Amino acid sequence: MSDIYINLAYIASAALFVFGLKMLSSPATARRGNLLSSIGMLIAIVATLTAQGIVSYQWIAVGALAGGVIGALAARLVAMTSMPEMVALFNGSGGAASLLVGWAALSAATNPTAFTAAVAFLSILIGGVTASGSIVAWAKLAEVVPSRAVVFPGQRVVNGLILAAIVVGGTLFATQPATDAPLFYALLGLALLLGVMAVIPIGGADMPVVISLLNSYSGLAACAAGFAIDNNILIVAGSLVGAAGIILTNIMCKAMNRSLANVLFSGFGAVQAATKVEGEVKPINVEDASIILEAASSVTFVPGYGMAVAQAQHVVRELGDLLEAHGTEVTYAIHPVAGRMPGHMNVLLAEANVSYDKLVEMEDINPRMPNVDVAVVIGANDVVNPAARDDATSPIHGMPIINVDHARTVFVLKRSMASGFAGVDNPLFFGQNTRMLFGDAKASISGVVAQFKD
Ligand code: NDP
Repeated sequence: MSDIYINLAYIASAALFVFGLKMLSSPATARRGNLLSSIGMLIAIVATLTAQGIVSYQWIAVGALAGGVIGALAARLVAMTSMPEMVALFNGSGGAASLLVGWAALSAATNPTAFTAAVAFLSILIGGVTASGSIVAWAKLAEVVPSRAVVFPGQRVVNGLILAAIVVGGTLFATQPATDAPLFYALLGLALLLGVMAVIPIGGADMPVVISLLNSYSGLAACAAGFAIDNNILIVAGSLVGAAGIILTNIMCKAMNRSLANVLFSGFGAVQAATKVEGEVKPINVEDASIILEAASSVTFVPGYGMAVAQAQHVVRELGDLLEAHGTEVTYAIHPVAGRMPGHMNVLLAEANVSYDKLVEMEDINPRMPNVDVAVVIGANDVVNPAARDDATSPIHGMPIINVDHARTVFVLKRSMASGFAGVDNPLFFGQNTRMLFGDAKASISGVVAQFKD
């Protein structure tokens, strides 16, 4: 296909990407948005395959087959709770791909201009940081390495020196871009080291933010690779990923009331909270919980990471339906960082066919909370921790929470008194109006459902 047709196809793909992204902003249109963006990607791939200069269709077929099989298997086999790990690995692969594209572009160019050398170098550098950083993020989330923040004296100076060495070496490299010179390998090693060093001081609880940031980096690396090989759709797609990733990072930071600098450099989680919470815990059993729920005229479910672990979303919907049939007003309150990735709870509840109009966002449910008869916390912990609101010494102080403690009665469904992802004690468990329903969330809710059906 001639260049003009290829670029026209690219414009169509870019438009589909943008409309697809726009549609992802509402649960009602997200599915179609995903499909639209996928069609855009298909058009981009087909157009690219018709371009002059394709070196080997056989190798492309082998790569597409291997990638397709890995992608399909991952999508089917990876558990919902391991999704952030999978996204981390996908980002890392994106970074590694850009690194290789930049490297290949430089190796193939006989006499590269300073611009080509600079953008190819950027795709190698950002791609390298993304690849190694994402592997560390994956290892922390999968607990292959300890998930706590690793901090040591002089860490920022060491990181600053690595960065300075990359800037100086990179400037030298752009004037004499030889990929077989020791300088190139030294810079490659420094880029990979920088990725590791940037992620180790970040604690496990902040890892989803880091993954979103690395996603943004992978987009920037792809964008630079697009300039290096002069491919317009790679530039556009890379920019979209870069921008979307940084917007999502910002949304997550806001939801935790933290700045990005605080997430990246504070070593959050390296030191445990000083305040120890003590008091009397009031457990409740399934039978008594059912009686209280039966008498309630308004019930709000507040899901968290534990609902994903227990895969309790279907029984939660079933209980919600039973309560509604009984005349109770039922809502589902969603905290923006409940679970382990943005929209985690929305996805689970959508999977269980909970209708979107029953989902209420944190800002909207909080003023209504004093009128809620029972708030049922299902495997959530940090996102309902009143210490974030009331205790200035708490490491999560300032993070907006769902004020379940303002409801008339609170049921907390979890297996033990263990803390949540942030590792911070929760005074909610000792509240006057709190009853702890210990056990796996799915088993507890199933028990309540069984009582209702009796
Ligand atoms: P938490 O990690 O605070 O708490 C989850 C709770 O679920 C645990 O206390 C655990 O207690 C309980 N649990 C685990 N398995 C089960 C089970 N099978 N049945 C019942 N309970 C179970 O989760 P939240 O959703 O409240 O908070 C999310 C955390 O992740 C926050 O710290 C947030 O800042 C962080 N985060 C999330 C992001 C996102 O995008 N969603 C982004 C950045 C950070 P027990 O072991 O006793 O059962």
